[in-house]
Amino acid sequence: MTEADPSQTARPFDYLIVGAGFAGSVLAERLASVGKRVLIVDRRPHIGGNAYDAYDDAGVLIHPYGPHIFHTNSRDVFEYLSQFTEWRPYQHRVLASVDGQLLPIPINLDTVNRLYGLNLTSFQVEEFFASVAEKVGQVRTSEDVVVSKVGRDLYNKFFRGYTRKQWGLDPSELDASVTARVPTRTNRDDRYFADTFQAMPLHGYTRMFQNLLGHPNIKVMLNTDYREIRHLMPHSHLIYTGPVDAFFDHRYGKLPYRSLEFRHETHDAEQLFPVGTVNFPNDYAYTRVSEFKHITGQRHHRTSVVYEYPQAEGDPYYPVPRPENAELYKKYEALAEAESGVTFVGRLATYRYYNMDQVVAQALATFRRLQGEKV
Ligand code: FAD
Ligand code: UDP
Repeated sequence: MTEADPSQTARPFDYLIVGAGFAGSVLAERLASVGKRVLIVDRRPHIGGNAYDAYDDAGVLIHPYGPHIFHTNSRDVFEYLSQFTEWRPYQHRVLASVDGQLLPIPINLDTVNRLYGLNLTSFQVEEFFASVAEKVGQVRTSEDVVVSKVGRDLYNKFFRGYTRKQWGLDPSELDASVTARVPTRTNRDDRYFADTFQAMPLHGYTRMFQNLLGHPNIKVMLNTDYREIRHLMPHSHLIYTGPVDAFFDHRYGKLPYRSLEFRHETHDAEQLFPVGTVNFPNDYAYTRVSEFKHITGQRHHRTSVVYEYPQAEGDPYYPVPRPENAELYKKYEALAEAESGVTFVGRLATYRYYNMDQVVAQALATFRRLQGEKV
């Protein structure tokens, strides 16, 4: 064994990165690849952020923070991540439990025919939507988006209850962008996502994160809040991926984030549900249940599922897109921009309802900017 060169070990870190989720890990990898020394810390006992996966006691691969399905239209993002994982093609399908039936969501031709006992063609269902759609001047809210496309009845059955449960708000109180995530279709396509690239990391997310963070220039410190070590570990620049309001000690008050409680169960059966996720818009306190083996492709004689119970308090999972929150975020954003030597990136730090691929794209863009600025 050779002894460590003391001049090397004494060198301060170029970057301290807070959070080992997608935002932090992608930046750590990119910066390490150009010779920067990076310390990445997370207060949780694992890497991967909310995308972390692990085998449960039964040996089933689960997502402890809820089902994570990778999908993107960005070739750049897909090719970037492909350096760190192989993939298993997977197209997610979701059924909604409505009026005693399990019906495809996004609403498509089959949803309408089965719900109403009809036998419409694609052309006819388009006419049907046009006949029930409500006239909305300017589409501003999550209610407007849906009623202006598919009318009040489908809105009430599929969106109103789910949204009130998930957000603790009526759809009329949320930006249009929230329910606009779920399209309406006149064909029989029953895939939840329509993106060009839809696949799961072949050996799981955690393995992919291990590969991202495997560079010798990267040191990983878990179970550590950055505030405990920030002043002990000299560094030239800080990258922060936690909640932006917490960074500034909630100076302007708390930014609302929606939380979830996860109820994980393992059953002595090969399979419990016909698809990866079943939504319950109108019954129960949970919004949905997901069965991991559909998503991961794992074969096992038992099966593990997770129920999601929305909560106001708890770990922050979702920014809440509505005008008053955007106003409050703007004040924090101004503080963030004025903060020298700190870069804010990721879903919680930029208060954006981003999917994983969007966070990767944001992190890659941030890297290019940091390189340009030579910080
Ligand atoms: P995070 O993953 O939240 O990472 C931030 C990290 O910072 C955390 O690990 C946290 O512990 C750490 N941290 C915070 N504060 C501190 C501190 N003070 N000190 C140290 N560490 C700190 N996206 C998809 O594309 N497809 C999906 O199917 C999908 N499903 C989802 C399901 C659920 C239930 C949820 C909640 C999200 C889902 N997402 C999905 C979104 C996805 O989780 C995020 O886009 C992505 O994980 C965000 O990455 P991030 O690095 O910005 O944040
Ligand atoms: N939504 C709904 N009914 C559904 C599915 C979604 O009302 O069956 C609404 C709800 O407001 C939800 C939003 O659409 O929060 C976005 O759904 P998505 O499945 O993208 O949510 P996520 O996976 O991010 O929790």
